Amino acid sequence: MKPALSIPADILKTHKIRVSSQRVQVLAYLLDHQCHPTVDQIYSGLLKDIHILSKTTVYNTLTLFVSSGLVRGISIEGNETRYDITVGNHGHFKCESCGEIYDFNIDIDSLPTEDLSCFMINDKNVYFKGICPKCLLL
Ligand SMILES: [Zn+2]
Ligand SMILES: [Zn+2]
Repeated sequence: MKPALSIPADILKTHKIRVSSQRVQVLAYLLDHQCHPTVDQIYSGLLKDIHILSKTTVYNTLTLFVSSGLVRGISIEGNETRYDITVGNHGHFKCESCGEIYDFNIDIDSLPTEDLSCFMINDKNVYFKGICPKCLLL
Protein backbone atom coordinates (compact mmCIF):
# COMPACT_ATOMS: atom_id res chain seq x y z
CA MET A 1 0.00 0.00 0.00
CA LYS A 2 3.05 2.25 0.15
CA PRO A 3 3.54 4.60 -2.78
CA ALA A 4 5.81 3.13 -5.43
CA LEU A 5 7.99 6.22 -5.51
CA SER A 6 9.36 7.71 -2.37
CA ILE A 7 11.10 10.88 -3.52
CA PRO A 8 8.59 13.71 -3.05
CA ALA A 9 9.77 15.74 -6.05
CA ASP A 10 9.40 12.70 -8.33
CA ILE A 11 5.94 11.98 -6.98
CA LEU A 12 4.89 15.57 -7.72
CA LYS A 13 6.22 15.26 -11.27
CA THR A 14 4.34 12.02 -11.94
CA HIS A 15 1.15 13.80 -10.86
CA LYS A 16 2.00 16.75 -13.11
CA ILE A 17 2.26 19.10 -10.14
CA ARG A 18 4.84 21.86 -10.42
CA VAL A 19 7.58 21.23 -7.90
CA SER A 20 8.07 23.88 -5.21
CA SER A 21 9.88 23.57 -1.91
CA GLN A 22 6.66 24.00 0.06
CA ARG A 23 4.88 21.30 -1.93
CA VAL A 24 7.83 18.98 -1.40
CA GLN A 25 7.77 19.68 2.33
CA VAL A 26 4.03 19.06 2.69
CA LEU A 27 4.30 15.84 0.69
CA ALA A 28 7.35 14.68 2.65
CA TYR A 29 5.40 15.25 5.86
CA LEU A 30 2.51 13.13 4.57
CA LEU A 31 4.88 10.34 3.54
CA ASP A 32 6.49 10.36 6.98
CA HIS A 33 3.21 10.60 8.88
CA GLN A 34 0.82 8.13 7.31
CA CYS A 35 -1.56 8.58 10.23
CA HIS A 36 -4.18 10.69 8.42
CA PRO A 37 -3.13 14.08 9.82
CA THR A 38 -5.38 17.13 9.77
CA VAL A 39 -4.30 20.41 8.19
CA ASP A 40 -3.53 21.73 11.71
CA GLN A 41 -1.29 18.77 12.50
CA ILE A 42 0.57 19.13 9.21
CA TYR A 43 0.95 22.87 9.70
CA SER A 44 2.27 22.63 13.24
CA GLY A 45 4.48 19.67 12.30
CA LEU A 46 6.10 21.67 9.51
CA LEU A 47 6.31 24.85 11.51
CA LYS A 48 9.04 23.33 13.65
CA ASP A 49 11.36 23.25 10.66
CA ILE A 50 10.17 26.01 8.38
CA HIS A 51 8.79 29.32 9.48
CA ILE A 52 7.88 30.77 6.10
CA LEU A 53 4.88 28.55 5.67
CA SER A 54 1.38 29.86 6.28
CA LYS A 55 -1.57 27.65 7.12
CA THR A 56 -3.31 28.86 3.97
CA THR A 57 -0.36 27.62 1.91
CA VAL A 58 -0.58 24.22 3.57
CA TYR A 59 -4.32 24.11 2.99
CA ASN A 60 -4.02 25.18 -0.65
CA THR A 61 -1.25 22.66 -1.24
CA LEU A 62 -3.40 19.89 0.22
CA THR A 63 -6.37 20.94 -1.90
CA LEU A 64 -4.14 20.76 -4.98
CA PHE A 65 -2.87 17.32 -3.98
CA VAL A 66 -6.43 16.08 -3.50
CA SER A 67 -7.61 17.39 -6.88
CA SER A 68 -4.58 15.74 -8.54
CA GLY A 69 -5.41 12.41 -6.95
CA LEU A 70 -2.15 12.33 -5.03
CA VAL A 71 -3.77 12.53 -1.63
CA ARG A 72 -7.23 11.60 -0.44
CA GLY A 73 -9.22 13.88 1.82
CA ILE A 74 -11.29 11.90 4.28
CA SER A 75 -13.75 13.37 6.71
CA ILE A 76 -14.51 10.95 9.44
CA GLU A 77 -17.47 11.96 11.61
CA GLY A 78 -18.02 14.91 9.33
CA ASN A 79 -15.82 17.41 11.12
CA GLU A 80 -12.20 17.87 10.20
CA THR A 81 -10.75 16.63 6.95
CA ARG A 82 -7.81 14.30 7.34
CA TYR A 83 -5.30 13.73 4.60
CA ASP A 84 -4.43 10.26 3.47
CA ILE A 85 -1.40 9.59 1.29
CA THR A 86 -2.68 6.07 0.67
CA VAL A 87 -5.20 6.62 -2.10
CA GLY A 88 -5.73 2.94 -2.94
CA ASN A 89 -8.73 0.93 -1.92
CA HIS A 90 -8.76 0.64 1.87
CA GLY A 91 -11.00 1.10 4.86
CA HIS A 92 -10.51 3.09 8.06
CA PHE A 93 -10.85 2.03 11.64
CA LYS A 94 -11.10 4.73 14.27
CA CYS A 95 -10.19 3.88 17.83
CA GLU A 96 -12.75 5.49 20.12
CA SER A 97 -10.26 5.47 22.95
CA CYS A 98 -7.07 7.05 21.51
CA GLY A 99 -8.61 8.57 18.38
CA GLU A 100 -6.05 6.98 16.09
CA ILE A 101 -7.17 6.04 12.59
CA TYR A 102 -5.91 2.77 11.16
CA ASP A 103 -5.95 1.61 7.56
CA PHE A 104 -7.13 -1.85 6.70
CA ASN A 105 -7.34 -3.73 3.43
CA ILE A 106 -10.80 -4.10 1.99
CA ASP A 107 -11.95 -4.32 -1.58
CA ILE A 108 -14.45 -1.47 -1.51
CA ASP A 109 -15.23 -1.85 -5.22
CA SER A 110 -16.51 -5.36 -4.67
CA LEU A 111 -19.13 -4.30 -2.11
CA PRO A 112 -22.66 -4.80 -3.44
CA THR A 113 -24.22 -1.52 -4.64
CA GLU A 114 -27.22 -2.76 -6.72
CA ASP A 115 -29.53 -0.45 -4.76
CA LEU A 116 -27.50 2.51 -6.03
CA SER A 117 -27.55 1.52 -9.69
CA CYS A 118 -29.29 4.80 -10.64
CA PHE A 119 -26.96 6.93 -8.51
CA MET A 120 -23.68 8.52 -9.41
CA ILE A 121 -21.07 7.52 -6.83
CA ASN A 122 -18.24 10.01 -6.29
CA ASP A 123 -16.59 8.54 -3.26
CA LYS A 124 -16.70 5.30 -1.34
CA ASN A 125 -15.69 4.96 2.26
CA VAL A 126 -15.63 2.09 4.66
CA TYR A 127 -15.41 3.24 8.23
CA PHE A 128 -15.32 1.10 11.34
CA LYS A 129 -15.13 2.22 14.95
CA GLY A 130 -14.00 0.39 18.03
CA ILE A 131 -11.00 -0.05 20.29
CA CYS A 132 -7.52 -0.69 18.91
CA PRO A 133 -5.25 -3.47 20.25
CA LYS A 134 -2.99 -0.93 21.97
CA CYS A 135 -5.90 0.45 24.00
CA LEU A 136 -7.36 -3.00 24.65
CA LEU A 137 -4.13 -3.97 26.38
CA LEU A 138 -4.16 -0.95 28.68
ZN1 LIG B 1 -6.56 3.14 20.60
ZN1 LIG C 1 -6.18 5.65 5.08
